[in-house]
Amino acid sequence: MQDTERKTVSILGATGSVGGSTADLLLANPERFAVDALTGGRNVARLVELASALHPRFVAIADPSCYGTLKDALSGSGIEVAAGDEAVCEAADRPADWVMAAIVGCAGLLPTLTAVRRGATVALANKECLVSAGDIMMREVADAGATLLPVDSEHNAIFQVFEQRRREAIDKIVLTASGGPFRDASLAEMAGKSPAEAVAHPRWDMGAKISVDSATMMNKGLEVIEAAHLFDLPEERIDVLVHPESIVHSMVAYRDGSVLAQLGMPDMRTPISYALAWPERMETNVRPLDLTEIATLTFSAPDETRFPALALAREALRLRGAMPAILNAANEIAVAGFLEGRLEFTGIAELVGEVMAAADFAGPATIDDVIGLDREVRVLAQDRLVGQLAHSAARADVESTIE
Ligand code: NAD
Ligand code: MG
Repeated sequence: MQDTERKTVSILGATGSVGGSTADLLLANPERFAVDALTGGRNVARLVELASALHPRFVAIADPSCYGTLKDALSGSGIEVAAGDEAVCEAADRPADWVMAAIVGCAGLLPTLTAVRRGATVALANKECLVSAGDIMMREVADAGATLLPVDSEHNAIFQVFEQRRREAIDKIVLTASGGPFRDASLAEMAGKSPAEAVAHPRWDMGAKISVDSATMMNKGLEVIEAAHLFDLPEERIDVLVHPESIVHSMVAYRDGSVLAQLGMPDMRTPISYALAWPERMETNVRPLDLTEIATLTFSAPDETRFPALALAREALRLRGAMPAILNAANEIAVAGFLEGRLEFTGIAELVGEVMAAADFAGPATIDDVIGLDREVRVLAQDRLVGQLAHSAARADVESTIE
């Protein structure tokens, strides 16, 4: 088959969990999709494995020190290899029809924006870029005539049942949350939880950062902000409901009393496939939903006393301006600190709250403002985290991880 008949696709963050689920769908449908570019952070072995299976034209790795090993491993394959942050943006800039934005954290901001700016169809998993720069991103999407397809399972669910042409008939949207591994734990129990316990999510198999975010419920907070941008709704019209079975992925409540929900097994291949095939649908190997087997679906209100991160995210969304970017940057530093054993689990939301109270920045007007703000807040959060370290040492440490 000619490549002109296939949709060309690129995966930013191919070596991660969402990247892997996307690769599974592409491998199962070689007649429909041709892979143009793949990117990874620093996992050379996984990137080589994916490149060998998917035959992209271009592969980029963010960590420049990985260039030699990657280049050697792919020598003779005909695949162009590059390294560094600019190479990741170059991958996004290449003319694939469809780009999966699945880099974790604010590191995904520029690559995602690069794909948006050339008017691509962007499947968005990287929620942090909408949290940090939602207003700017949505404006860029409109200006470039790009198409943004939500991949986060809740937003994908809402996208499937949101009657855009009847917006005035919509009362609110309801994001479901699994409640994470510490759903029923007390704050005292949570304080002693280890990174391994926090990362062991009961329903979804995900990267470390989003798994910790699920455990603190900051993930749901980030998702409330993400939904506000994607569906242009104020904070008070976005509800959260704890639903441990993770079968109802989210809902739209209409003013006539109808509530439309999307259901399915907790498997990211379903929302990713919806974005891949949109506006059509495609087959996946996802297990069909058997409600007789599941039998019971339960729902409860979230507890913002035990999960203060959710309230912080709501506050950031109400305040707007710089606050969502401050929340996100502080959370990225806090989660990394927890995963490195430098912060207690309950210290994550505490640190985010402290940084939000202390940080005083004007709302960002440009993407460079967001990047500068993100950098400053990381330094501030790192300073608080490593209180005893001199400010200069913390600055050097943070700048080496973000450049
Ligand atoms: P992951 O940690 O498994 O993968 C992250 C990817 O980003 C990897 O390919 C990694 O190499 C790359 N990366 C990390 N730092 C980078 C940097 N500085 N520069 C370039 N690339 C870098 O994460 P994930 O679970 O796949 O999640 C990815 C994104 O999707 C996150 O924003 C997450 O919130 C969102 N998301 C994930 C899931 C899920 O089920 N995993 C569901 C919904 C949304
Ligand atoms: Mg989600």
